[in-house]
Amino acid sequence: MSNAIDSLSEAVRGSVITADDPDYDDARVVYNAMHDRRPRAVVRCMDSADVMATVVAAAESGADLAVRGGGHSVPGFGTVDDGLVIDLSVMNNVSVDPVNKIARVGGGATWGDVDHATYPFGLGAPGGIISTTGVGGLTLGGGIGYLTRGLGLSIDNLISADVVLADGRQVTASNDQNQDLFWALRGGGGNFGVVTNFEFQLHEVGDIVGGPLFYEVDDAPTVMAFYRDLIADAPEELGCFFAWQIAPPLPFVPEDRVGDLFCALVTCWNGPHEEADAVLQPFFDVAEVKAQHVGPAPFPALNSAFDGLVPKGMQHYWKADFVTELTDEAIASHVEHGKKTPYVSSTMHLYSINGAAQRVGADETAFGHRDKNFAPVIAACGRTPLTTKQTSNG
Ligand SMILES: Cc1cc2nc3c(=O)[nH]c(=O)nc-3n(C[C@H](O)[C@H](O)[C@H](O)COP(=O)(O)OP(=O)(O)OC[C@H]3O[C@@H](n4cnc5c(N)ncnc54)[C@H](O)[C@@H]3O)c2cc1C
Repeated sequence: MSNAIDSLSEAVRGSVITADDPDYDDARVVYNAMHDRRPRAVVRCMDSADVMATVVAAAESGADLAVRGGGHSVPGFGTVDDGLVIDLSVMNNVSVDPVNKIARVGGGATWGDVDHATYPFGLGAPGGIISTTGVGGLTLGGGIGYLTRGLGLSIDNLISADVVLADGRQVTASNDQNQDLFWALRGGGGNFGVVTNFEFQLHEVGDIVGGPLFYEVDDAPTVMAFYRDLIADAPEELGCFFAWQIAPPLPFVPEDRVGDLFCALVTCWNGPHEEADAVLQPFFDVAEVKAQHVGPAPFPALNSAFDGLVPKGMQHYWKADFVTELTDEAIASHVEHGKKTPYVSSTMHLYSINGAAQRVGADETAFGHRDKNFAPVIAACGRTPLTTKQTSNG
């Protein structure tokens, strides 16, 4: 190792984990098992000072540097062969100011950490649909989730970020300071610096009414067209996505249908509960519902409901896009290929990103898809630990 990297363990409070350490294999592993990389060292940073020292050591030694928040990067950006990894997982503290409705969130926190800290105050911030995803990568890429239609993308609720720059200095970026950097962080991805703290505007998010509804695959054209038409002007408190889903062995799935492929709509009504029945009834009328788990639930429960389907350690290959229209031809194509969904963890999700997300100007942030209405994400995953004949499709 170079001197700069060698002396890192003296400079930081966190641990510098190298191939000689017994926990090296645990430390180097990322979520997507497609990426089996061997960094020179994984630096588990405790604070901004650790991050600053590691950035400087990487620059002085010429080593490549990877930054890891929640580690969920499908292309594997949270690790690197022969370089340094800044692992922020210990920097996951979330503190809530309930009066001003603001959360300060450590750069390595997950959305589960945010939900856990904000829910007791009846507050929340828009994240994704899986609670183990990192706030860092999700936010810097834009951030689409259950609350997007009502509250905007995650970046639309970002007030400021503390960022360690490539020269090792930490600055704050916001609408008042380092505005260019703040613009870039909101949708431009992870390469503008290491965010040690995010500051988010919180909103009233307590118990929602929602959950998944499963329909027969033969009804998919009707269900998809219904979703397209309804979500165009549904009340913005309604979040919803379409999914292909092989039924896992869950209590609400009839035993004889476990392992069958369905099309699903997953709903999240974050509005007045007395309006929920009227808003959600069309989902029960569009086609025969074969299984459902819709009802009042704490938001953190819905936000973690599918975590078990996508545990760390599977092999992932994803494709995603942003589209303005969901044409009948596109629906026919989705139906043709969706029927081949191979495993319980593989899917195509179709997120709607209209509503509040479209009220932010195209040039206000680096997120370049404000005119798009849908984001389809195809997630191809290897077999999961749930693998049985019941959870694979053919
Ligand atoms: C199971 C699963 C579910 C998902 N669901 C959603 C969803 O609902 N909505 C959605 O919008 N996206 C979703 N995604 C995509 C997800 O947002 C991206 O994969 C994101 O990059 C993951 O962030 P992370 O911090 O966990 O990943 P990491 O691998 O840690 O980081 C990903 C990238 O962000 C950078 N980064 C992370 N933290 C920081 C930081 N603090 N400072 C600077 N750079 C940082 C890294 O350098 C890297 O380039 C999902 C992904 C998975 C695997």
